[in-house]
Amino acid sequence: MNFEKELRVRPGKRVKLSRYDAADTFGYEKGPESKKLVEKAVARLDELQDVFYAENKRAVLIVLQGMDASGKDGTIRHVMSGVNPQGCNVTPFKVPSHTEAQHDYLWRAHLAVPERGQIEIFNRSYYEDVLVVRVHKLVPEEIWKKRFEQINNFEAMLADNNVKILKFFLHISKDEQKRRFAQRLNDPAHQWKLSPADFAERKYWDDYVEAYEAVLTKCNTDIAPWHIVPANHKWFRNLAVSRIIARTVEGFHSKYPKPSFDFSHYKLK
Ligand code: ADP
Repeated sequence: MNFEKELRVRPGKRVKLSRYDAADTFGYEKGPESKKLVEKAVARLDELQDVFYAENKRAVLIVLQGMDASGKDGTIRHVMSGVNPQGCNVTPFKVPSHTEAQHDYLWRAHLAVPERGQIEIFNRSYYEDVLVVRVHKLVPEEIWKKRFEQINNFEAMLADNNVKILKFFLHISKDEQKRRFAQRLNDPAHQWKLSPADFAERKYWDDYVEAYEAVLTKCNTDIAPWHIVPANHKWFRNLAVSRIIARTVEGFHSKYPKPSFDFSHYKLK
């Protein structure tokens, strides 16, 4: 089944997250078969990236958003596991540094926009400026309200300049977040990922849902669509994201460039 299209939010649609099942797997089941499908998509992406990199015509910008513990890091680790490191990069968006805070909110994002031939992943993004910033009232409403349109304009400008934008919202349920936090608490290899802020942020779950619904409704365009990825099941999340990226790069029909000179005069001795 082609579930990729179903995950893509139709532009103009008013998103209510309660209508999306975070545990959906679109009929797929966990097991060796679905594992193979992920491996296939990851391998396909590796092949495609080689020619996409060589062609050097356009760039891909992947925006990953989701509640705490929704699996942003894990998605990056799995989906990009086969890709040539020379052709990709990850930029995390943290609390703005002193220098970043001296600029407009899109400045640091624009600096990290990929050059041609590159796949860039934003682990969080400029969308934080209408999410955490809104939830915690870090700027007045009249400021963040204008940002939806500014972001749409920014993304349209990038699209016009050969940057293909793919946006993923990793959708987990509140119960699943609790389960993952509890797991992290009990696992020394994962405790470092927890911070007191995570517990504090969980109290704002409903505010974040409201803020995300606004983003998924107002900043969802044909040129920069959002995908709502059911992410309670990590294997399905990996399958969905890797397939969507692979299919997108496939759609470029990239070709290896022709050599710039005639090799017939060259002899290997
Ligand atoms: P992560 O949770 O992504 O693994 P951190 O624990 O370092 O990484 O969290 C980064 C934090 O930075 C998040 O709480 C996020 O909301 C915050 N952040 C990102 N961008 C901004 C911003 N523009 N203003 C305020 N906080 C931000």
